[in-house]
Amino acid sequence: MDVPKKAELPLDAVFVTHAHLDHSGYLPALYKEGYEGSVCATSVTFDLMSLLLRDALKVQSKRGLKLLFMPHDIEKMERLKRIVRFGEEIEIGDALITVHNAGHIPGAVSFVLEAEGKRILYTGDIKFLDTRLVSGAEPHFKDIDIVITECTYSYKNHPDREKLIDRIREIAQETVYNNGILLLPCFAVGRTQELLINLYDLGLPIYLDGMGIDATEIILNHPEYIKNPSELRKAFSKARKVVRPRDRNEAVHNACIIITTAGMMNGGPVSFYMKKLHNKENCSLVTTGYMVEGTVGRTLMDTGRYIADGLDVRPKMHMEFLDLSAHTDHDHIVRFLEKLSPEKIFLVHGEHNPEFEKELKSMGFDAYSPEMGEKMRV
Ligand SMILES: [Zn+2]
Repeated sequence: MDVPKKAELPLDAVFVTHAHLDHSGYLPALYKEGYEGSVCATSVTFDLMSLLLRDALKVQSKRGLKLLFMPHDIEKMERLKRIVRFGEEIEIGDALITVHNAGHIPGAVSFVLEAEGKRILYTGDIKFLDTRLVSGAEPHFKDIDIVITECTYSYKNHPDREKLIDRIREIAQETVYNNGILLLPCFAVGRTQELLINLYDLGLPIYLDGMGIDATEIILNHPEYIKNPSELRKAFSKARKVVRPRDRNEAVHNACIIITTAGMMNGGPVSFYMKKLHNKENCSLVTTGYMVEGTVGRTLMDTGRYIADGLDVRPKMHMEFLDLSAHTDHDHIVRFLEKLSPEKIFLVHGEHNPEFEKELKSMGFDAYSPEMGEKMRV
């Protein structure tokens, strides 16, 4: 992924919608560049960012990549944090910012910025439908002039979520009863917890490996941001946590479900499991999330080849790539925009933005997909 262009300082404030690294990963670098102000986000977002940013730094260092920031930059961000809550209004100079649930992962928000007579909605990553983990975003915003919206899935609609969950439960039973292992690579934040909640009652052994363990503990410390904390607490307590290499070896010698990072299969414990399991016909691999082009998981999905850590193989495991997305889809985003009827729409965070821009224009919207680094005046 490209590094963002340097921000033009001074900035009055920084608002972060949620903890995923494609939204927060450059934040400490802002402090390195000289930013002195505060960062506004929900409490659970701050705690998750602290975990993810430190891990990102470790990974950058281990891979010999150019380090974008140092631990003291993360610490500075933590010292200057300003915790916000759903429904809160924050004044920054003459601007008023309101905070709304975005329904994407625990603590994810959208912001409405009101300044100089305009109301601008920045959706961040947004999902309108409830999941068993979080409540969906409320699509009712009043008098919005400008929308900056994500459009990750502007080109398709998601299949029925309940059916997908049922399918994963089916595969879990079939695999484990055939003495195999169901491997579920997924994001530490959001998907790990949703899968735990949806699988624990099967009564099958579940191993939890990677950063999903710490992320679940953090989320459980902020129960106000999840729908059913007691259910997640129960599911988490039943899962066997992989903390030592010995636990990992135990997991691969058991018929079980393994939930592990990394979600896009680029590094993380999933590499260890793929090495051990790729040629086992009684094992299964199910991916459930968005995978960026060029990642190990996306290549596997597109070509059937697992290419990582010196391996280039066609896994013999049963493989399914399910679209259990935490983002809104085409029909929901179009309906949302029709209801808002803004004077201008900016499209960000997607792979098919120009096509979506064309479609929205044909519907009479003034839509635009800006290039990275482009400046807009509204
Ligand atoms: Zn996200």
